[in-house]
Amino acid sequence: MTSRTIPEPVQRQVRQDCGFGCVICGAPIFTYDHIDEFSITQSHESSNIALLCYNHHMEKTAKRLSKDVVKKYRASPHNKMRKSKGIHTWILQGNSVEFRIGNNVFGSPAMSDGEKYVAINFMEMEIFSVRREGDNLLVSIFINDIEGNQVLKIIDNEMILGENLWDFDFSGTRMKIRSLSNPKRVINFEFNPNTSVIYISESRFRIDYPRFAALNPFENYREIRIEKDLTVILPSNTIISGFHCYVGRIGMRIV
Ligand SMILES: [Zn+2]
Repeated sequence: MTSRTIPEPVQRQVRQDCGFGCVICGAPIFTYDHIDEFSITQSHESSNIALLCYNHHMEKTAKRLSKDVVKKYRASPHNKMRKSKGIHTWILQGNSVEFRIGNNVFGSPAMSDGEKYVAINFMEMEIFSVRREGDNLLVSIFINDIEGNQVLKIIDNEMILGENLWDFDFSGTRMKIRSLSNPKRVINFEFNPNTSVIYISESRFRIDYPRFAALNPFENYREIRIEKDLTVILPSNTIISGFHCYVGRIGMRIV
């Protein structure tokens, strides 16, 4: 008899097929739904499994959402059509934020409504930033894999996943991103909604500056390599370790 647990490779296939979100609304927090019930099929054929958010999963269970509609969306999922989705579950609140990048801390001073804090500014581009809007903190992040392909772009909490994504796994408060160019390499994010901390650990990623390429094609990006005790910025080999900053509107400027 087949176990009810969906094997991990099948789960990953389903995530990739469905664009890493609910096939209907794109929400990044989802469950795996057997469109034709597992109790009948006794199979984990990936094409019969769709990602559904909790709301749409409940709608389907209540039979207000038909199997045919789910099948239709499984064939053309929301995120594959729009490539963009809102992050509703980890909107951070309060008036300050802390980015922990490896063992370095970039903390914002208290922000008033409308103010912005930039943890890393690269060639006048705001790579990690947060803007206060009312009681909400809106996060923006732009990073590429180390080959320079866009893997993650978050603008004011709206997530746009890159074409080059191999896997995107958002469970609990952890987000793991793997790029097609090297699926073994993981970019690790974690969020703490109570303390408004955004934590990036043991990862390698790149920030690009396309406009600079015309001037010098070899100096148009910086690679950030985060290890346990230190963070290295390449190609200059600048090491930052144990850096704590809680003042100013910009945590660090990389040129
Ligand atoms: Zn949904």
